[in-house]
Amino acid sequence: CGIFAYMNYRVPRTRKEIFETLIKGLQRLEYRGYDSAGVAIDGNNNEVKERHIQLVKKRGNVKALDEELYKQDSMDLKVEFETHFGIAHTRWATHGVPNAVNSHPQRSDKGNEFVVIHNGIITNYKDLRKFLESKGYEFESETDTETIAKLIKYVFDNRETEDVTFSALVERVIQQLEGAFALVFKSIHYPGEAVATRRGSPLLIGVRSKYKLSTEQIPVLYRTRNIENVKNICKTRMKRLDSSTCLHAVGNKAVEFFFASDASAIIEHTNRVIFLEDDDIAAVADGKLSIHRVKRLASDDPSRAIQTLQ
Ligand code: GLU
Repeated sequence: CGIFAYMNYRVPRTRKEIFETLIKGLQRLEYRGYDSAGVAIDGNNNEVKERHIQLVKKRGNVKALDEELYKQDSMDLKVEFETHFGIAHTRWATHGVPNAVNSHPQRSDKGNEFVVIHNGIITNYKDLRKFLESKGYEFESETDTETIAKLIKYVFDNRETEDVTFSALVERVIQQLEGAFALVFKSIHYPGEAVATRRGSPLLIGVRSKYKLSTEQIPVLYRTRNIENVKNICKTRMKRLDSSTCLHAVGNKAVEFFFASDASAIIEHTNRVIFLEDDDIAAVADGKLSIHRVKRLASDDPSRAIQTLQ
């Protein structure tokens, strides 16, 4: 149960450097416990618009995943990406045995249109799964997490307007979820973009840039802090945002973002971090990070929440 994701925006990185960053991030989280691990990365094509998503998943430890990554014939280690978003996960199985299919990232469909990593437990996953199966979505794993991957595709397939944002989809998804989660999403429909959110499970974002970072709007709510002492930071609670607040941290400059369950996986890269709070949605698009707080649906009956989707 560890999440690590890395986006380089206008910072050229080779495939090999991206692998190393993802694997090192997972290794820092290994103490949290795990039985399997996996990553989702972009295919070899460096054209952002034409990327497909490649999944590599493995039962066992992070070292086993590392070896598996280098065995992939289709992976050119020298190919360089101006912008790339890779997500990585170590799993501690709660629903479904530890095996490659049940490990994360979980996917929306065989074309890997949406992939997601999850730390936590979705308590209403059975209702969601039944609903999605009734709509023709076919499941391949026994996990609660797979319902999230299918649900975002369902919301996307049934979107009302063409230009719906990635974070709007995620917002719709988490309004249906009960339980605990930290989630990071990646999608072929939103290349070069990232969306992360949490409720109950921890998630923070590190930002590294040689440029001065600025916040547009409401600077008092800027929640980036220097990590002087990791122990203190872990105890620190950040100021709460109200549901409508949008926070812009950086824009259009060479920048890297690190998403992790724990500061210990980020500290070696940057000392600027933002701790997400419950129901925050953080989205990176065009190198710009925005965070807003989602209102929960006023419903404690999961079947009612599902109906609002139809
Ligand atoms: N509940 C999810 C699963 O069993 C996530 C477990 C975790 O936090 O690693 O796949």
